[in-house]
Amino acid sequence: MNTTEIEMQSDLDQTNWTEITPRALYDKCFTLAHNLWWSWHPEVVSLFRDLDPVKWRKLDHNPIALLSEMTPEELAARAAEMVLYTRINQAHRRLKDYLSRTTHTWGARHTGVLGSKPVAYFSAEFGIHESVPIYSGGLGVLSGDHIKSASSLGVPLVAIGLFYDQGYFKQHLDTDGYQQEEYLDTKVENLPMKPALGPDQQPITVKIDTRDGQLLAKVWLMQVGRVNLYLLDCDVEGNSPQDRELTSRLYGGDHRTRIRQELVLGVGGVKALRALGITVGVYHLNEGHSAFAPLEVVHQRMEDDGLTFDDALREIAHRTVFTTHTPVPAGHDRFDAELIEEHLGPLRDQLGISAEQLMGLGRVEPQNESESFCMTVIGLKLSRRANAVSSLHGHVSRGMWAHLWPWRVEEEIPIGHITNGVHIPSWLAFPMLQLYDRNLGPGWQKEMGDPAIWEGIYNVDPGELWETHHALKSRLLDFIRRRYSRQCRRRNEEDHIVEGARNILDPNALTIGFARRFATYKRADLFFRLLDELAELVNDPQRPVQFIFAGKAHPADAPGKELIRKISNLRRDPRFTGRMVFIEDYDINVARHLVQGVDIWLNNPRRPMEASGTSGMKVVLNGGLNCSILDGWWAEAFNGKNGFAIGNGNQHVDDEITDSRDVENLMDVLRNEVVSLFYDRDLDGLPRQWIERMIESIATCASRFSAHRMVIDYVENSYLPAAGGRSSDMSIR
Ligand SMILES: *Cc1c(COP(=O)(O)O)cnc(C)c1O
Repeated sequence: MNTTEIEMQSDLDQTNWTEITPRALYDKCFTLAHNLWWSWHPEVVSLFRDLDPVKWRKLDHNPIALLSEMTPEELAARAAEMVLYTRINQAHRRLKDYLSRTTHTWGARHTGVLGSKPVAYFSAEFGIHESVPIYSGGLGVLSGDHIKSASSLGVPLVAIGLFYDQGYFKQHLDTDGYQQEEYLDTKVENLPMKPALGPDQQPITVKIDTRDGQLLAKVWLMQVGRVNLYLLDCDVEGNSPQDRELTSRLYGGDHRTRIRQELVLGVGGVKALRALGITVGVYHLNEGHSAFAPLEVVHQRMEDDGLTFDDALREIAHRTVFTTHTPVPAGHDRFDAELIEEHLGPLRDQLGISAEQLMGLGRVEPQNESESFCMTVIGLKLSRRANAVSSLHGHVSRGMWAHLWPWRVEEEIPIGHITNGVHIPSWLAFPMLQLYDRNLGPGWQKEMGDPAIWEGIYNVDPGELWETHHALKSRLLDFIRRRYSRQCRRRNEEDHIVEGARNILDPNALTIGFARRFATYKRADLFFRLLDELAELVNDPQRPVQFIFAGKAHPADAPGKELIRKISNLRRDPRFTGRMVFIEDYDINVARHLVQGVDIWLNNPRRPMEASGTSGMKVVLNGGLNCSILDGWWAEAFNGKNGFAIGNGNQHVDDEITDSRDVENLMDVLRNEVVSLFYDRDLDGLPRQWIERMIESIATCASRFSAHRMVIDYVENSYLPAAGGRSSDMSIR
């Protein structure tokens, strides 16, 4: 919606807004707050913010928490003062339209057979908005982006996850720079969810038998646009005190906690779908965490129609799609036979298979008793269609799992790829959205998955693009200063440091962002190998460079925490003071600020360990440039002029040699390409060639790495064949 539309609308509404009672106005806001649709509509976000900007920030941008601190009368008074009536009415009407206009969507035209039988999308985490803390990182954000795009495209899909009442941890660094984890209880009443009801309008509790007794889980419903997200929660009466905490934390606990969570997600999830009366067409297992699910579906199939295990399995595998997300071995859950028997034993009895047969489903060599049960292996075995998340990752995964199909050559391994993408409206800064409105035409958002729409960006005025970027960069620096001075205060640092924090970083200096999980393969410390050279680069008086870091290490990852300590403590090295900052508690909010304001997004993982990576895609949309190892998505995105590549895509068999080569290449590209292009200004002060790269980056990557394109790929190459019974194509290429 553009501003003229708002103005016209306000003329229309002027006559009747006073007739709305405070209660009715409050109810409209309440409705808006209870569908996460609001989170990707900037005009609704700003509406909530305008109700009380200070509280909005304090309450983690949570509109339900905000409304709970206001009476309808206070809200009405505030709305009158801010002239918000029209905006509230407008937003409310748009949400209603969005939810009811299902026949005009892409999905209505293209998802034929799925219509009455939706896709059930299983994921252990969903990153939808910072106020709903049930995600830890990339996998969750990807799942959130997937369901948002499915919603807007009108793809019939329901999502299944777990409700973690403490979510993932909040990160603080102590005075020594060491990561401290804090788990906070989320107030259920402040989340946009309610008990999911079955066909009889009663709340649902699913029961899962283990050898050690029964596990119960209740089911919540969260609305994400048109998509229903069902979240299972073990905090119910009837569970032991220990089991009531089973789903408290994301990726916490030991192996037993993990398998129990995965049992609830997979088996419990399938039971929940049945209790809800949902007939599923296709099961999509997003990563191995949910890979027990098909076993329960097979069980239901056997029970309903008297099929044998083998026949039911063949049919269900046909309707199951599996996505693998990482080549890193620790990313693939493994369980020993004892844990499997304890948790899957009762289901195994129902399936009529032996313990050896069950273990065999999770092993590369079914008879090999020394092999543990791997969730990725069972995921691959129980699905007819499997995919990796970038072209390179597809290649790597085929090699990695080739021994599952020893009679095939690598090209015939049935693992294809669908490259990840990001949900554009969630990651796009409002000023960039306005710039696209002006340059791509007002209808561009409806066609944003179409590359042709983005051609319009070649006509943008370079000055306009640069100014927009500069404004966003200033906004980022304001955010960093505020956060950083708060961090210093919290650590009880001296007053002059806290004060100084308010002025760190230079809005005109080349600003490089590096934010991601501190997993060791991501090599956040690569540059330490040439620290002196980096110091020179950073301190160049004419062409200074500054860095912003952020990211969490898994609580059990001591080397990851050590990396964070090393980097954050560079603030005490005079060469880097005020030029290298570490921002605590990387989450969707911090990510949004960073990707919208940096000049350069740096990514230097050890190839080929980064399956895809998505943060760099978010940067593209906002006019930042990627400087990355040719790994994951960047290996297929880089065309020589839409950003920067570190190295040439080769890796040595010896990691040590790879690392030292890569850091040389990193310093080379920073010095000779990045810094020199950034500071090469024309008479108007514009870095012309840099801006050309920004344009090229947007034109070549925005639609190609969007979640809309990704979801369309899943529908066409994976969901429809799985639903329609076409049996010839086993893989997605
Ligand atoms: C996008 C995002 C990620 C994923 O980024 P990678 O490029 O895969 O490292 C992780 N965490 C948050 C909060 C994100 O927004």
